[in-house]
Amino acid sequence: MTNVSNDVVFVTGATSGMGAAITRRFIDEGARVVATGRRTDRLDALRNELGARLHTATLDVRDRDAVGQCVAALPPDFAEISVLVNNAGLSLGGGKFHEDDLDDMLTMIDTNIKGVVHVTHAILPGMVKRDRGHVFNIGSVGGVYTTPGNSIYGSTKSFLHLFTLDLRAELLGHHIRVTVLEPGAVDTEFFEVRARGDKSALENFKRGFRIIAAEEFADILFYAYALPPHVNANIIEIMPTDQNWNRVAIHRTT
Ligand code: NDP
Repeated sequence: MTNVSNDVVFVTGATSGMGAAITRRFIDEGARVVATGRRTDRLDALRNELGARLHTATLDVRDRDAVGQCVAALPPDFAEISVLVNNAGLSLGGGKFHEDDLDDMLTMIDTNIKGVVHVTHAILPGMVKRDRGHVFNIGSVGGVYTTPGNSIYGSTKSFLHLFTLDLRAELLGHHIRVTVLEPGAVDTEFFEVRARGDKSALENFKRGFRIIAAEEFADILFYAYALPPHVNANIIEIMPTDQNWNRVAIHRTT
């Protein structure tokens, strides 16, 4: 079985939601974790809470040069990253493509696609050199099923689906696992961010059904990590029991 205390886990978007839960879970299990995100105050709070096995770095994954510098500047105890969690991401708008703001669309593409490419490109060569690692990409059911209002967000997550499978194909023969997790609704700030800071958005969304907790999602990711090293979970799709996908839509004129 995997010995967690030998692992250094690099988490993007560790300042809230699933990233924070994944960070806590790996620290609890004995790993060293590099927690990153844009909000330094939240990283400082995590550092105070979780102690010396946590290293924090303020990082915007859209900034290609900053990503390279961040990985290159890690202290020796945190430099040999063996688990990468590409978690940072967001949805903005949620309206129709022809009505939504182009800047929001480009922000989603820059964060959810280019951010993952920047971080993976900075970290994967070290894993290949050491012939050891696990890359987790956080996709979405929005990348698998169509949902009105999701044309760009869903497409960015669809990128992660294929990126994961193609990395797996390219890494055949290396001891590096690659997994995409594709969740439905999880209880995080995601809904508030999508609604431009409207704090009632999450409460409105989860009214009347039980949503997945960020800690439950972290459990699932950790389960995939804790599988024997010769077992690779390729794709993990999770939804609340009370969530499902759309019916084929019909527009009737009569
Ligand atoms: P949160 O909004 O709680 O967390 C998103 C995290 O991403 C924050 O830590 C935020 O940190 C970080 N982030 C956003 N933009 C950047 C950036 N440019 N650079 C670095 N970090 C960034 O939402 P979730 O925890 O739910 O989101 C985690 C992942 O899960 C996302 O990829 C999301 O798309 C995906 N997802 C979420 C679902 C849900 O229902 N919650 C469903 C399906 C997928 P900061 O602002 O400090 O930079």
